Amino acid sequence: MIDKSLLEILACPVCKTPVDLQGDRLVCTKCGRRYPIRDGIPVMLVDEAEMPAPR
Ligand SMILES: [Zn+2]
Repeated sequence: MIDKSLLEILACPVCKTPVDLQGDRLVCTKCGRRYPIRDGIPVMLVDEAEMPAPR
């Protein structure tokens, strides 16, 4: 549902780190924030991100 080339240019706005597609979410490989995908469009907004579970 997300184009691979699009995925490659997406990065976490917080750490500027590439994100990983996991299910219907884009997950930052560094901080673990999860960004939603709405109608096929990644929402790369910090305010919309789900924080990872605290360890
Ligand atoms: Zn991040």
